[in-house]
Amino acid sequence: MKASPEIAYFSMEVALATDIPTYSGGLGMLAGDHLRSAADLEVPLVGITLLHRQGYFRQRLDAQGRQREEACPWNIGRYVRELPARVAVQIEGRSVAVRAWQYDVPGPASFVVPVLLLDTDLPENSEWDRHLTDHLYGGDSYYRFCQEVVLGIGGIRMLRALGFNRVRRYHMNEGHAALLALELLDTRAAAAGRARFTREDVEQVRAECVFTTHTPVPAGHDKFSLELVGRVLGRHDFTEHREVFCCEGVLNLTYLALNLSHYHNGVARQHGEVSQLMFPRYTIDAITNGVHAPTWTSEPFQRLFDRHLPDWRRDCFALRNALRIPRGEMWIAHQRAKNRLIAAVREVTGASLDPGLLTLGFGRRAAAYKRADLLFHDIPRLKAIGKHCGGLQIVYAGKAHPADQPGKDIITRIVGFEAAVLPEVKIVYLENYDMALGQLLTAGVDVWLNTPAPPQEASGTSGMKAALNGVPSLSVLDGWWVEGHVEGATGWAVGQPWAAVPNGAVHDTEHDAASLYEKLERQVIPLFCRKPDQFTEMMSHCIALNGSFFNTHRMVEQYVRKAYFT
Ligand SMILES: *Cc1c(COP(=O)(O)O)cnc(C)c1O
Repeated sequence: MKASPEIAYFSMEVALATDIPTYSGGLGMLAGDHLRSAADLEVPLVGITLLHRQGYFRQRLDAQGRQREEACPWNIGRYVRELPARVAVQIEGRSVAVRAWQYDVPGPASFVVPVLLLDTDLPENSEWDRHLTDHLYGGDSYYRFCQEVVLGIGGIRMLRALGFNRVRRYHMNEGHAALLALELLDTRAAAAGRARFTREDVEQVRAECVFTTHTPVPAGHDKFSLELVGRVLGRHDFTEHREVFCCEGVLNLTYLALNLSHYHNGVARQHGEVSQLMFPRYTIDAITNGVHAPTWTSEPFQRLFDRHLPDWRRDCFALRNALRIPRGEMWIAHQRAKNRLIAAVREVTGASLDPGLLTLGFGRRAAAYKRADLLFHDIPRLKAIGKHCGGLQIVYAGKAHPADQPGKDIITRIVGFEAAVLPEVKIVYLENYDMALGQLLTAGVDVWLNTPAPPQEASGTSGMKAALNGVPSLSVLDGWWVEGHVEGATGWAVGQPWAAVPNGAVHDTEHDAASLYEKLERQVIPLFCRKPDQFTEMMSHCIALNGSFFNTHRMVEQYVRKAYFT
């Protein structure tokens, strides 16, 4: 890194590589793709996260589809290097020492985006404190809050200890990092020789901070009791600054982040609108998510793009010209990607899929609102559809958070349907969905399935990965698909747009399932089975219209213009 970083990007989870299990799902993938594109575009950015020595978890599924979780410690020394700096944070009056390990995200020539992974496993810390940076989203709310102290407060102190003194913007990727703003306030007060921060300090910190909110689902917004916060931080000045801490007996980190940043955004156009309704006192902009194109394009399509659109890795807008790629070559590349998936499925499950059959894919965190089981709403109907097209295959994958029983029940239910839908429909549920599996799955299926309950899918990114590989989506109109959907050109819409439902009334599962079956039967199957030329035409539109736009090169350029260098 030649230039000292000017943007500090804080995220509780970051997906750096498959073998570094420091992510749970979309938020971490997005953070990783953000850093990868920043490196490619030479944006002077530094990432800050926790080391998560024991990872998120490794998912095992038994024959009944019941999830078991195992720790997944990773080979730290192999991927990151220890930095000599040490800082300390105060937790319940204890001084907890923090060190950092550095991972380099490579850019062109010698440019890198450094990522600092904070770690409390030091001999001077108590046994309990040493485990503070072990588990992503593990433990209770006390553990979580202590982790957020390490990330936000420890992160700022570490930047300072490393001499990163040219930072002009602090980007809070979700509210988990909001305590960084508290540390910036305290720093200003201390520099002026004051014990307390003032309104002017608040204004100045706001000018330095930007905040991205990632979900309208309440569990995504951390709240802690003031008793817990006061005890851990050893201070009680929150009630003096209600306009900042917004306490109704709790500290809500989303409000803290909103109050201490000057630019706030949701992660797709509709999510910006939904967030604006949730937080009417603030102005919420939208920057639609993307994916890092070189990471999520399968090797067969990489070679295809290298041949026909040579500049695409640096300039993703080049994908706009995908219409020029001969359809036959595109189809061959797709068959290669599909065969790779089929080989991987055979290797890990022993199941054999038929490369000639229409294959749908569904891979997400198993959270209830994503409704992974919508397709099984009417089993006889699903079987009839499978029969009609001479066989249908569906590959599922996704982890449920260890404490999310409804999410785990969905996995069990889907695995339970495996026998019920045979022989017309073949289902496989792959365990331990991770980055490598995500790459295989999103590229290797024929159609990507996405069935969230609107408006809860803030963006969703796996359909974007699919689009880069010419895979159309069959999706509920929610999140990014509201923008990416062109009926019959980039895929198909399921159900009604959320805004069109009177009074924003809740979605209708019955209706969505009926719409899903109808689209499958009348649109998807006839096109795939009987009109291969039109199907490959659709593949080229997915890349040209959606691959060229829903990527993190475009997204990071928007953050640069709207949030970083303004
Ligand atoms: C892309 C990806 C996700 C996120 O998918 P969404 O569509 O954003 O929910 C989660 N897990 C893995 C392994 C992924 O590759």
